[in-house]
Parts: sequence; C-alpha cells; structure tokens
Amino acid sequence: METSSCNISPDNDYSNPIRVSRKTKPDTTVVKTGGVEIGGAEVIIIAGPCAVESHEQLSVTAHAVKSGGARMLRGGAFKPRSSPYTFQGLGEEGLKMLRQASLETGLPVVTEVMDTRQVALVGEYADILQVGSRNMQNYPLLKEVGTQKKPVLLKRGMMATIEEFLLAAEYILNQGNENVILCERGIRTFEPSTRNTLDLSAVPMLKHLTNLPVIVDPSHGTGLRWMVPVMAKAAVAAGADGLIMEVHYKPEEALCDGHQSLALNEFETMMADLRKVAAAVGREIRLP
Ligand code: PEP
Ligand code: MN
Repeated sequence: METSSCNISPDNDYSNPIRVSRKTKPDTTVVKTGGVEIGGAEVIIIAGPCAVESHEQLSVTAHAVKSGGARMLRGGAFKPRSSPYTFQGLGEEGLKMLRQASLETGLPVVTEVMDTRQVALVGEYADILQVGSRNMQNYPLLKEVGTQKKPVLLKRGMMATIEEFLLAAEYILNQGNENVILCERGIRTFEPSTRNTLDLSAVPMLKHLTNLPVIVDPSHGTGLRWMVPVMAKAAVAAGADGLIMEVHYKPEEALCDGHQSLALNEFETMMADLRKVAAAVGREIRLP
C-alpha cells in the first residue's frame, strides 16, 4: 500500500494524528451493537422506513425486514427535510416507537441526530446514532457524538470529498469514540436522472484508506425504488460491509421518500439475490 494513500492525501498537512488511517491502525474496526457486528465477514443489512410515522407502520415494517434477513432497523424521528413545510418527524414520540419495535423484534435501531441538543435524548433510545449527509461538517455535532459511548453512523456529505469525509470521522475518533461506520449515500454531480450519483468507487477507496467499516445507502444514492436492488448488489460486490435502505409497508402512502422505498415483497426478493452476491465475494448475509 503506498504511503501517500495511507496518509489520506498526498499533500497531507493535518498536523496531527490520522486516527482513521489504515497506516495508524491496519485492522478494520468491528463495530458491535446488540449482537450485530459491522466490519466483520457478515454483510449487515439495515432496513426500515425513511421516517417513523406510526406504531403500526414501524412495527409491520420492522417484523417484515427482520424476516427478510435485516439485522438492524432504521427510521428517522428527527428528519432533515428540504422544505420546512413537509413532515419533520415525530420527535421523541418516534424514538419511543423505535425502542418499542426494537423490543418486539430484537433488532437494534439506528436513527438520526440533527443537533447537539438532541444527542443525549437520541442516545437514550438508539443503539447507533446517525449523523446525516447535511450535517457531515457540523463540527460541534461531530464532537458531541464523539464524547458519548454509542457507535456513530456518519453519512457522506452530498458535496464532500473522500478526504473531507475522513476528516469528519477523525473529529469523532478524536473525542474518544472509535466506533464510527462510514456511509456512502451519493454525491451531487451534473447528472439529474438519479437523485444523487452513488459513488461506489468510494467503497474500495475508503477501505483502502481507512480502518473504519463502510456501508452504502442505495435508497438516497439513487432516489429510485427500481434501481435500489441492483445498486445494492453492486455495493456488496464492491466490498461494502453493509447496506442501509428504506423499506415501507405502503410506499405509496409514505410521508417521506416513498418513491425510493422498497415494498416488503421487493425487499424479500432483493435479499435472496444479495445473499448470492455476498457468497460470490466471500462474505455472508445470514438467513433470518
Ligand atoms: C436518512 O438516512 O434518513 C437521510 C436523511 O439520509 P441522508 O442524510 O443521506 O440524506
Ligand atoms: Mn429518506
């Protein structure tokens, strides 16, 4: 491995340790939560609705993704919506529903935290705290999640380079929290036919440069339900340690991102295909 790549950038002048670098720590970090290990041989599937909408919606979806082979449940209670007039999430009520669904299914939960003032509250209910794309360079928030104990799922900023992404993760590690999972979720390019351009080359590049586990979000990465399964397969083939994807029991009625959410039967079909791809690249997606 070339020294320059290991130092993240050829003209590295960060003037301090690069804790995220493979050079500093060659072994991949395995993030453990609720019996799930992200960064090991198993490819971890995290699935659930974009937003928590009701107990019924979450519970039905959670049970279905579990029987399809998902190992974690996702769902937003605090939603970073582009318009201030659209559904903003159920807040603490949504966090309670997530915990309830986790108790019912045994699936650990990941949910977004948008603000330093929410970190303690979200930490009471979530197993993994998500920092969303829009907040990847919110340095006070990165420091705050770095001082608490729960693992952090850090999504790539929609306009962030790999270098900026890794330095954002460095902020979290630098506060003492080494349990960071990186998530490629697409970047803004000149191409409008997909919601974002899913940068799958980020997967091998990140795994080359860093010791942190890398997962992919094909839902926000494409914005198109029909394209999610094929890009999910491509992500696993590219070496992703996991996937996070949106699944809804009634996508056409979803309050958020229904157009990119898989229906329950589509999720099940995709999982069968994904298992074959994982096996072909020496990984495993466990049966439920
Ligand atoms: C999400 O995962 O719910 C989300 C808002 O994603 P992103 O931050 O990648 O846009
Ligand atoms: Mn969404």
